Amino acid sequence: MSHLKATDPEIFGVIGQELVRQSTKLELIASENFASLAVMEAEGSILMNKYAEGYPGRRYYGGCEFVDIAETLAIERANTLFGSEYANVQPHSGTQANMAVYFACLSPGDTILTMNLAHGGHLSHGSPVNFSGRLYQVVHYGVSAETETIDYEELEKLALKARPKLIVAGASAYPRTIDFEAFRIIADKVEAYLMVDMAHIAGLVAAGIHPSPVPFADFVTSTTHKTLRGPRGGFILAKERFARLLNSQIFPGIQGGPLMNVIAAKAVCFKEALEPGFKTYAQQVVANARALATVLKAEGFRLVSGGTDNHLLLIDLRSVGLTGREAEAALDRAGITVNKNAIPFDPQKPTVTSGIRLGTAALTTRGMREPEMEMIGTWISTILKDPANETLIKEVRGKVQELCRTFPLYPELHEIYNG
Ligand code: PLP
Repeated sequence: MSHLKATDPEIFGVIGQELVRQSTKLELIASENFASLAVMEAEGSILMNKYAEGYPGRRYYGGCEFVDIAETLAIERANTLFGSEYANVQPHSGTQANMAVYFACLSPGDTILTMNLAHGGHLSHGSPVNFSGRLYQVVHYGVSAETETIDYEELEKLALKARPKLIVAGASAYPRTIDFEAFRIIADKVEAYLMVDMAHIAGLVAAGIHPSPVPFADFVTSTTHKTLRGPRGGFILAKERFARLLNSQIFPGIQGGPLMNVIAAKAVCFKEALEPGFKTYAQQVVANARALATVLKAEGFRLVSGGTDNHLLLIDLRSVGLTGREAEAALDRAGITVNKNAIPFDPQKPTVTSGIRLGTAALTTRGMREPEMEMIGTWISTILKDPANETLIKEVRGKVQELCRTFPLYPELHEIYNG
């Protein structure tokens, strides 16, 4: 790292500051995690120098014999981890994985049935500001107003009426288990393809904590960096019969050269997820989310759908008269990082919102368990009930820092960047 410090002290400084931020604050953003040093070493390696357009054994460049091994390992490990027949590990992001599937099975103007962004869906599931909303006719399903869980009867009615070519399951802010079999049955009734975007829950699926979509979906897309705890990036799983079509949609369809360093880091991530310790981690992620939900409910907060089955929960802040934007800012001042998030049927604008989303993957990776979740839940509650009390915020900030010191993050890196 002495090279970076000498060449670019500003960027070296930024990394050092970000390291301090990540280590001294409580990361509760549900889509984030802390990748291992092994994953980061692979990503920061000389593999980044290599162009390798094409696929293992069929490249458009010479000198690919070693990166071929890395990509083959990533593919084989993904298939072992998820029990899939085919994996493409080249998508640069979750959105590009989704784009490749859309391009593989849809033509512009076709109808897709996806979860409403305002009810927990993702931008790349047909939002008008995303390519998916511009290219396709989008019909949204959502959650029921009473239970705030997916209304499968309503979903079926919508599917029968809209006759979509593709149904998309999966979400960014849905705290409950998704019934992929129910989606399959409905997709079959209308002869639609089924794509499951498991980006958020991929780590739970890998560990067998959330039911797998692989037996039910034609296409499964994901990111590697959320509960799965790998590098930032995407991948696609499918039945072997879609292999050629999907491969050609990623390259040359929507991407050029794959990021071989990131693919190697994905291989490391899949290897780590195959270790027995990963299951323990994933079980603890869910146990931590439940513990946090229990404290917040005991403190009088209403959680969307009444609780959580997975790694995330959504707090409805209307009872304390706060918006998501205000809550996010107050908690950040205390060193607790969350994001504002729309709740179903939110009366506020998406830039304001009535909710915040909390996820437990990153803190679980740090080693925190139920006792720490109880403390954190109490601090969150205290601040949300008195967000303008700067003395209180300062007091909580002190406690947060103390807790963070007890669960050190990347100690080896602190010596390098801030030693
Ligand atoms: N799909 C879902 C369900 C997500 O939550 C996200 C990211 O938050 C994505 C796709 C997109 O991933 P990326 O940011 O890598 O494009």
